[in-house]
Amino acid sequence: MSDFATRLIRWQRQHGRHGLPWQGADAYCVWLSEIMLQQTQVATVIPYYRRFVTSFPDLAALAAASEDEVLAHWSGLGYYSRARNLHVAAQLIMQRHDGAFPHHYDDILALPGIGRSTAAAISALVFHERRAILDGNVKRILARYCAIEGYTGEKKIEAQLWQQAEALLPVRDVATYTQGLMDLGALLCTRSKPQCALCPLQKDCAAYQSGRVAQLPTPRPRKVLPEKHSTFLLLLNGSDILLEKRPGSGIWGGLWCPPQVEGEENIATYCMQRFGVDATQAVALPEFTHTFTHFKLHIAPLLVPVTHKPGQTQEPGRVWLDMEDALRAAIPSPVRKLIEKIIRV
Ligand code: SF4
Repeated sequence: MSDFATRLIRWQRQHGRHGLPWQGADAYCVWLSEIMLQQTQVATVIPYYRRFVTSFPDLAALAAASEDEVLAHWSGLGYYSRARNLHVAAQLIMQRHDGAFPHHYDDILALPGIGRSTAAAISALVFHERRAILDGNVKRILARYCAIEGYTGEKKIEAQLWQQAEALLPVRDVATYTQGLMDLGALLCTRSKPQCALCPLQKDCAAYQSGRVAQLPTPRPRKVLPEKHSTFLLLLNGSDILLEKRPGSGIWGGLWCPPQVEGEENIATYCMQRFGVDATQAVALPEFTHTFTHFKLHIAPLLVPVTHKPGQTQEPGRVWLDMEDALRAAIPSPVRKLIEKIIRV
């Protein structure tokens, strides 16, 4: 066994995390936690995880739920394709594997929303299979430990990191080792201010030994994000708000949002033609910006009080909801913040 693995495993046993709610749980819970933890910190995930497993305690319950229910439990966590894939995968497991979470790596990898690293994490943590993981934390650790230069999202650099991840794998205790990598990335080898003085790998960490910890991993090349503009039409009838279900794919896929008008379209004409509503007395709320991975969205909220609920809005994919109920529905966080703001006024 490499020194790297021996020291990491020993450190995990003494100093790693042992009380996370999904540790020691079944494959379903570990899978759910791995999906939630993609792009999201443990502290943020824990309350979502607890709510999710309370409502959907097993695969059968998740498979039987509606997409709306699943998305409502994901509301605020972002990257909603994760929730849609989780839901579809649960239904596939019910059909293809008789409701039992698959044990084989290839079967796990074949499920929607599961990539190489996530499949390996589930295989290693639950089934003690010897598989290498390479999530964001592990990329950072290995880029530093092996002093690998270059942006870790680049194919060539990623291939080098996978090679290292495979080479360092221990022959036994793979679950503790895998948890150790995750814990080291979260607790010591952090993005900023890593605590090298406490690190079990310090002795042969190339970045530490050559004083390059602050330079590695090489940051993502800067690129200017494209900007888009959208007006959110907040049609309000008393305390009820009009929401529309977004298409299944794309940003906020399947979530409920106020009607949106992009670009230069004339708002008053749009409101009249689409809803038969006079928007000349509408009140503009302060604009704000929501940043996605690939673009920035400048949102201009427009409060449009209406004295009746326009007849043609009672169609599938549209709903009038009391704002308190809307907060419990599958809505993205900027919409949540807007509704909370309106309720407080
Ligand atoms: S010594 Fe520092 S940079 Fe190297 S692995 Fe440990 S925490 Fe990370």
